[in-house]
Amino acid sequence: MNPPPRELLSINTATVRKQWGLSEIIAGCARRGIRQISPWRDQVAAVGLKETAQRLRDAGVRLSGYCRGGMFPALDRAGRKAALDDNKRAVDEALMLEAPCLVLVVGGLPKDAGGRIASKDLPGARAMVRDGIGELLEHARPAGMPLAIEPLHPMYAADRACVNTMAHANDLCDELSPGANAGLGIAVDVYHVWWDPDLEREIERAGGYSGRLMAFHLCDWLVPTADLLLDRGMMGDGVIDLPLIRSWMEAAGYRGPHEVEIFSERNWWKRDPDEVLATCVARHQTVC
Ligand code: ZN
Repeated sequence: MNPPPRELLSINTATVRKQWGLSEIIAGCARRGIRQISPWRDQVAAVGLKETAQRLRDAGVRLSGYCRGGMFPALDRAGRKAALDDNKRAVDEALMLEAPCLVLVVGGLPKDAGGRIASKDLPGARAMVRDGIGELLEHARPAGMPLAIEPLHPMYAADRACVNTMAHANDLCDELSPGANAGLGIAVDVYHVWWDPDLEREIERAGGYSGRLMAFHLCDWLVPTADLLLDRGMMGDGVIDLPLIRSWMEAAGYRGPHEVEIFSERNWWKRDPDEVLATCVARHQTVC
């Protein structure tokens, strides 16, 4: 395959979050010609929403997505209402920052006030996720902010997201938001879905006229993986056939950003952030 267009590269700000604050990330990306980022809400809050919007404009950097909404399941009605209210605020922030979509990490089993998992009712959690997305759509759709469900690897089903396959995400889109370009779609993160034998078919299902392919997240799967959350690999250092998955995305009509998202406590978070960005730029051209 030909190398991807350089301008499609985006940096999810988690990739250098240990080394840099958001303002430094925006400036660092702009210096390297990276014109897209996907920031996290806590980083935006630390700088301030208006200030962030201004810095993005000044640097000529736009968003490839906004991280994140979701976490819908809760033990009681008040908890679900609080989650919905917080998600509405996330939609409003995404609008202010002119993000193309709000990414949803939907949440797992309900937790108690201390953050401990307090239920084994996985089907119930999945129902709360469906209902929560449906309610949030009533706010997001008229406001014009697309919602992108990110299926997470099944190892996160308990604590982060109980939508674990592209098929499940596609089913939710069918149920809650049928039709073309209906404001609900999918963020395809190779780390979470590379293993799925139905991946090509489900990408095809999400593409085309339905317009559900809203984001494409890149990193690599290391063998062995030393930490369930914080040991993602740089593209090219693991076992994912990145060009193959990109070819499926392109065949399904996706032409959007390629967002590098690497949580790496033992390696990339310890390196010079300029070196990390340079490596992202290089690997995007050589192994993606
Ligand atoms: Zn992701």
